[in-house]
Amino acid sequence: MKLFGFLEKIFFPSDFKCIVCQKEIFDNSKYCLCDNCKLEFNDDDYCQKCGTVIQNMAVFCEDCKNYKPNYSTARSVLIYEGNAKKLIRGYKYGNKKYLYKPLGEMMSDCLKTYNWKIDLIVPAPLSQKRLKERGYNQSLLLSQVVSKNHNIPIEKDFLYKIKNTPYQARSNRKERFEQVKGVFLASDEINIKGKNILLIDDVMTTGATVDELSRLTLKKGAKEVNVLVLAEPRKKVKGLY
Ligand SMILES: [Zn+2]
Ligand SMILES: [Zn+2]
Repeated sequence: MKLFGFLEKIFFPSDFKCIVCQKEIFDNSKYCLCDNCKLEFNDDDYCQKCGTVIQNMAVFCEDCKNYKPNYSTARSVLIYEGNAKKLIRGYKYGNKKYLYKPLGEMMSDCLKTYNWKIDLIVPAPLSQKRLKERGYNQSLLLSQVVSKNHNIPIEKDFLYKIKNTPYQARSNRKERFEQVKGVFLASDEINIKGKNILLIDDVMTTGATVDELSRLTLKKGAKEVNVLVLAEPRKKVKGLY
């Protein structure tokens, strides 16, 4: 083994351990998963607008029937539950930066299945405070993998997060849409006029963040915004939960 390859394996343990259970894997599994660990891919029935899983064979979820988002389409690679949730939480909060690689590969493969015209990739921004705490913008790292695999440029300095938003788990949908107002800024310095944008984020819950980012991007003259995220949770169906 060449020295560089050896060092790489030490610093990027995902190369030889299952990213879910840490068990050693010997074949060159693309996403670094062992045979026992399955991920919850969101490739069955989803809302044709926001991409959230729906179980009732409908075309659109209840939210998208009542509200028209600013983006054209949003899709997620995974359903935010089980192993997928565990991985993404580890990537965002558990200091497992190396997960950007397999997760970014999953996003790249997912993107191949959609016929979106894309001129530019824009990652969802992180506030300076969070960036300092975490040390990396998780959406930017994912964007870099997609950019490389699809040969599409990235613009990381177009969108800014100027305020921290409160932890969103306890907020309802309406509150989230209120909370994201005034939180982001789009740069005047970077010209995105007439461009087809792919917005990349990690987890899309109510969709308030990607909707606001899409609104700002379109306001600066983008032609269209499509959204790709790592995961979306199942939509709670009224009356069933
Ligand atoms: Zn495993
Ligand atoms: Zn929807």
